[in-house]
Amino acid sequence: MAPGATIGILGGGQLGRMAATAAAELGYRCHIYSPDADAPAKEVSAAETTAAYEDQDTARAFANAVDVVTFEFENVPDETLAVISEIVTVRPGVAALHVSQDRAIEKTFLADNGIGTAPWAPVTSDAELTAAKAIGFPAILKTARFGYDGKGQVRVNGADDLAAVWAEIDRAPAVLEGFVDFEREISVIVARDMQGQIESYVPVDNVHRDHILFTTTAPSTINESLANTARGIAGRIVNALDLVGLLAVEMFVTRDGGILVNEIAPRPHNSGHWTMDACTVGQFEQFIRAVAGLPLGDPARHSDAVMTNLIGDEADRWLEISGEAGACLHLYGKIKSRPGRKMGHVNRLSPKRPFAP
Ligand code: AMP
Repeated sequence: MAPGATIGILGGGQLGRMAATAAAELGYRCHIYSPDADAPAKEVSAAETTAAYEDQDTARAFANAVDVVTFEFENVPDETLAVISEIVTVRPGVAALHVSQDRAIEKTFLADNGIGTAPWAPVTSDAELTAAKAIGFPAILKTARFGYDGKGQVRVNGADDLAAVWAEIDRAPAVLEGFVDFEREISVIVARDMQGQIESYVPVDNVHRDHILFTTTAPSTINESLANTARGIAGRIVNALDLVGLLAVEMFVTRDGGILVNEIAPRPHNSGHWTMDACTVGQFEQFIRAVAGLPLGDPARHSDAVMTNLIGDEADRWLEISGEAGACLHLYGKIKSRPGRKMGHVNRLSPKRPFAP
């Protein structure tokens, strides 16, 4: 796609905003589709549509107005994406979205590709609920769809509590997952272009607070062999999905040095925000490059970085942070702050450690 072309993005949050900014740097226009008139991505984009994701007529008009479509969150209805993909290329394709939208489909896909996950069982009926108890406890019951930042997840301490916890989430289709006593959480972000070339960023260490990502430290301090294994897993997944775009893979490192995949997301990811300031080409530009059919950029990092999310009123410290040496502040332009809402992030850079991967 030549500069001047229009990239349609489904979803208007901070991921769309930062992707649209990166697209503008490469000379592209972005058209944001989101039900929220005040969506952060609309502020920085050339065109916008405000409509429900289920509104297929409007989705059709959007598809006719753009040169390619991508998405910045997974919960776009399959039917809407099918309507759009009849008119214009969608990258990544419907298959990648389908797999990552539903935890049961995702875990089955990973197992089919020989990739380990926490032990799990589907919970969609009373019979399955009873059978799922074999997973053991403590465990976590997660809704199969529409979960983010720990929403739709409840810890279950014993078999006797399971039915009540399922009722708490309105008996929505769910998966019961064994609790992983992990040594740490890491993630890998990998890009794949139209020719099947792959580039991945170095694995990073992620720390969550109240189920929300709090910090990402780049690079992870895992050893080189484990780092290569993690990157290899991400590469296998992106190939198996035949994905053109960006994929984030969240993983647990177990105490015996194994890796289990927790979740995949076929889009830019919060744990890749550090790349914006610490790498030759950051994740948002890499995403746009893949979607636009350009060659992938160099993901090498020139600095180490710690990314800290600014959640709720933590963003009120913007002035102080903006004056800090080595700190790169990013704010999302969200009008209303509330507890748990991601308002921005700060990347604190430091010289790249010698000999680190
Ligand atoms: P998720 O929404 O699945 O990414 O989960 C959010 C966070 O909850 C993870 O990053 C972990 O910190 C924690 N978590 C999720 N699933 C498990 C599990 N099976 N065992 C232990 N911790 C988990």
